[in-house]
Amino acid sequence: MTGPKHSCGVVGITATYNVVPALQKALMIIQHRGQESAGISVFDGKTTQTVKNNGLVQVALNKDNLTGVEGQIGVGHVRYSTTGSKSVINAQPLTVTTNFGIVAIAHNGDITNYTELKEKYLEAGTSFLTDSDTELVIKILSKYMAQYCDPVKAMRAMIGELDGSYALTILINDRLFGVRDPYGFRPLCIGKIEEGHIIVSESAAIDALRGKFVRDVLPGEIVEVKRNEILSYPGNENKPKAYCMFEWVYFARPDSVIDGREVYDVRKRIGMILAKESPVDVDVIMPVPDSGRAHAIGFALQSGIPYEEGFMKNRFAERTFILPDQKEREVAVSMKMNPIKSTVEGKRLLIVDDSIVRGTTLKKLISMLREAGAKEVHVRVGSPPVIAPCYYGVDMKSRDQFIANKHSVDEIRDIIGADSLGYISINGLIEAIGKPENELCLACINGKYPTRIPGEIHRFQLTLNSDF
Ligand code: AMP
Repeated sequence: MTGPKHSCGVVGITATYNVVPALQKALMIIQHRGQESAGISVFDGKTTQTVKNNGLVQVALNKDNLTGVEGQIGVGHVRYSTTGSKSVINAQPLTVTTNFGIVAIAHNGDITNYTELKEKYLEAGTSFLTDSDTELVIKILSKYMAQYCDPVKAMRAMIGELDGSYALTILINDRLFGVRDPYGFRPLCIGKIEEGHIIVSESAAIDALRGKFVRDVLPGEIVEVKRNEILSYPGNENKPKAYCMFEWVYFARPDSVIDGREVYDVRKRIGMILAKESPVDVDVIMPVPDSGRAHAIGFALQSGIPYEEGFMKNRFAERTFILPDQKEREVAVSMKMNPIKSTVEGKRLLIVDDSIVRGTTLKKLISMLREAGAKEVHVRVGSPPVIAPCYYGVDMKSRDQFIANKHSVDEIRDIIGADSLGYISINGLIEAIGKPENELCLACINGKYPTRIPGEIHRFQLTLNSDF
């Protein structure tokens, strides 16, 4: 659909002092949302300066390139790219110069009607430099700013055109805005910090700045954040919501609270429900670090079976998930994890992870556990089988990637070499998150998309050809 993907993290800060260090800190806290590139744009009273580069926050934003970059208001971004889109041209914030000054945008999400809208704008004479959907967002916004001479009206008109997921922080000279799409796919919240405010993807960043969580930006809402006040321009509150379940299951930090639900607590509840739905008689429960840890703790609490660390994770190893080749991915898993012998040897083990996508990770881990002397290896998984691509910003793109599309649970158990395999049920997951089903995006596990996607079933449709 779009070129580069945008499973990213965004921030915006306004205060009475130079916010560059605070932007850097906040970006480091949400680094897990994107490791490919990082950037900031700050307004210094006269102009907006942008610094962005490939690499982790500490590398991309360093003493050298930040010299002389100061301002009391700014936005920032960390970017998670998938294979092949590593060019720094896609790093954010993205900026354009308009009649109203420089507009800088940081975007988390994916615009699902990108192709259609881009064609429309190309025909109308707009030119584009990249194949990033954020460029489309910024071009649409600047068009409406010229038309309405009012950022909020322009943002409302922009929301009317965009489909899909977007959590945005927007800097227009000395004004800072946050925008969340009407479904609320991606998280965005507001915090009070010393003599200022922060808008950020995850609340953990507010804690790190010793701030106080104020509230989530509501789906469809535009907020303008000033040093001492928050102005709200609500969307239509009756529209259906679609919070991404994968934020709680995997993507977000356990110490963040998203839309009223703490991520750690949800994961622990997932583990507890799994233990009831899919009990198992083993000696030890161990997580796949770090993604399965809270789920495993929940399983252990509910079942009363001892919890142990059974893998040492090399925290400096590269990301296995995005490597293009299966063999490479398998080798990378063994570079990343090593069994802890005393936990494993001679034991009946249960390993808990958050999800199975291709099955690469668990297959490799199970064979390592058996080599290390495990007597039995059982597996429980904190999300139901992933069967459908995500068009809203999580890197799970094509159906043939998913092992659960081609195989039954029993077959997957055999392929990964487990003694037993159990996934949490969809209802169990909904119960653990604690939000009504019709407020969640469950598209990757039930194939029903909250927005129209060409060739996919909308969640109110029975079949691809039926109306809703
Ligand atoms: P796989 O090895 O392909 O089955 O992938 C599953 C593993 O990758 C699990 O340990 C997950 O924590 C992790 N994972 C799942 N989805 C994603 C994603 N979109 N990006 C990165 N890692 C993921």
